[in-house]
Amino acid sequence: MSDCLFCKIAGGEIPAGIVYEDDDMIAFKDISPVAPVHVLFIPKKHIESLDTLSSEDAALAGKILFKAAEYARKEGLAEDGYRVINNIGKNGGQTVFHMHFHLIGGRACTWPPG
Ligand code: AMP
Ligand code: ZN
Repeated sequence: MSDCLFCKIAGGEIPAGIVYEDDDMIAFKDISPVAPVHVLFIPKKHIESLDTLSSEDAALAGKILFKAAEYARKEGLAEDGYRVINNIGKNGGQTVFHMHFHLIGGRACTWPPG
């Protein structure tokens, strides 16, 4: 999608702190981190949100989650734990409508979330 911020990051049009990339997905540092580690994991293809994920792309979403966990282990977050978050729509707090999973680590998270 030409007017989508995360499509532009995935396409290299807008710079980002990329920490992982392959043919299907990219991971980059959140521009406004809320924790010592705050990385966004996204598919390269435009998928608006988890709500619009098709069954054909279900494995892609699974792969993105797997890669987030792999990255967390690599960064030494797994022992103390961390959080993976996916916001969906207005009530979910989604502000960028290209599906993404937040990986947040390096501090204790509270529950329930706001
Ligand atoms: P959400 O509110 O779940 O849609 O999350 C969107 C996230 O994208 C927020 O945490 C923003 O800080 C982050 N964000 C917005 N613009 C950029 C950007 N240019 N580069 C990296 N992260 C961004
Ligand atoms: Zn997009």
